Amino acid sequence: MVDTLIVGGGTAGSVLAERLSADPAHTVRVLEAGQLWDDPAAVPVELLDATAMPLSPGAEWLWHYEVVLADDPPVPATIVRGKVIGGSGAINGGYFVRATTADFDAWSRALGGSATWSFEAVLPMFCRTERDLDFGDRPWHGDRGPVPLHRTKHPAPVSAVFTAACLEAGFAEVPDLNAPDCGDGVGVVPCNCDRGRRTGTALGYLLPALSRPNLSVAPRTYVTRIRFDGSRVVGVDCVREGKAHTEWADRVVLSAGAIESAVLLLRSGIGDPEQLRPLGIPVVHAAAVGAGFTDHPEIGISYQLDLAGRQTVPLESVLDVGDIEIRPYAVSFTPGVRRLGVALMRPRSCGVLRLRSAYPADAPLIDYRYLAEEEDRARLRDAVSTAAGLLRRMNARPVDPIPARANLDPWLRANLATSQHLSGTCPMGREDDAAAVVDEMCRVRGVTGLSIVDLSVVPVPLGRGPQATVVMLAEKAAAQLTS
Ligand SMILES: Cc1cc2nc3c(=O)[nH]c(=O)nc-3n(C[C@H](O)[C@H](O)[C@H](O)COP(=O)(O)OP(=O)(O)OC[C@H]3O[C@@H](n4cnc5c(N)ncnc54)[C@H](O)[C@@H]3O)c2cc1C
Repeated sequence: MVDTLIVGGGTAGSVLAERLSADPAHTVRVLEAGQLWDDPAAVPVELLDATAMPLSPGAEWLWHYEVVLADDPPVPATIVRGKVIGGSGAINGGYFVRATTADFDAWSRALGGSATWSFEAVLPMFCRTERDLDFGDRPWHGDRGPVPLHRTKHPAPVSAVFTAACLEAGFAEVPDLNAPDCGDGVGVVPCNCDRGRRTGTALGYLLPALSRPNLSVAPRTYVTRIRFDGSRVVGVDCVREGKAHTEWADRVVLSAGAIESAVLLLRSGIGDPEQLRPLGIPVVHAAAVGAGFTDHPEIGISYQLDLAGRQTVPLESVLDVGDIEIRPYAVSFTPGVRRLGVALMRPRSCGVLRLRSAYPADAPLIDYRYLAEEEDRARLRDAVSTAAGLLRRMNARPVDPIPARANLDPWLRANLATSQHLSGTCPMGREDDAAAVVDEMCRVRGVTGLSIVDLSVVPVPLGRGPQATVVMLAEKAAAQLTS
């Protein structure tokens, strides 16, 4: 029996485990479905190499999910997540940009005007996470946190040509994408890597703390269900090496990511009774779990451009304009072809996650419903027109000619992808908000002893990629849980 059981040693779970176990009187145990290497020197090179995402189909460190990106007719896709210590942060692109002040204003509005997640409240937490190797001495940055941040000083030719095209088109240059007032424009992406080594929260936070006697990590341990005594959480059921057992604790924190934390709640009886009862799942508490998640739809424009390539991080610079982020990937995902990503960062359409059955072996149904709203299609049409103009200035040749704006919708569907930033399956909100699953302290409503600390709880679409915000969220939640 421990004080706190953390389900998932991923991006958020690694932060939480380190921060909670800093108090020697508090015992912490992490249950992680994937592999753990307690010596950083033993971590496979693929996971450390910041110049390539380790996403080969047979990789043991990935979860795969079959999803539907858009309906009528369905646009199917496969998405991945990190199934390994460090979670998705151990396999991702390393872009580490904070959500904007506008995002935290929207987050505060979702909490009825509470200042708990205002930009002023979260800024010290962002600073605590990072060791910014470029801007660490500036007031709104950190210079001694566990995650090193680095910006490329010598951009790859494709990034340089893209930036020049943006400036020529009249967009501003943003010297620091993590500055609170950075505004729109093109800028160099801060990445969580140091000398080419991807350094997520497992390497930065968890592994250095593993020698603490009050912290233990059980790898290859898949949690299947939450255990209750009435409405009080007392532990979790899990499977390790084919054997089922139960782990007991005073408090359970789900940090299994926005897909698996929601799945665990549903499978344990916290969800919509009309969906749970037909699956034979006894209802513990009615809640809108999985009812309206969000993610960043991304239109992929393949193009050719005769420029020398070089080994670098996947994304060196971005153009942010309003709700749109345009990403000139600096590495090639298909030989001979480059990719420009056009992402809608604050979509109106929401996706739905549901259980297929009560069996842990059955993956959930994930229906993104991208492009369902005319407003989203209109914003993406505009954004693709902007991107096409930039490609012309770069002298790049799109592989599939981009149609005129009036005929763009079928082309958008044909080139539709996702940024893999699924969030908000268990959103935070006010007590009188029927959509809210957790309160502003990340506690699951309707039961005691259960919290969620990961991207599930973010109640609004974020205007930037989520990784930096998840790390901040875990820092803040750790402070809340220890206060
Ligand atoms: C391919 C890819 C690239 C990305 N690139 C970027 C990027 O460059 N920048 C950016 O900002 N964002 C990026 N993201 C998104 C970002 O990495 C994630 O949103 C973030 O890491 C999520 O953190 P989390 O703590 O919520 O979940 P995760 O980091 O996914 O952690 C969940 C952990 O829980 C474990 N787990 C799950 N279920 C169970 C269970 N039942 N029992 C035990 N353990 C369990 C998992 O194995 C995992 O370790 C990317 C995502 C992907 C998939």
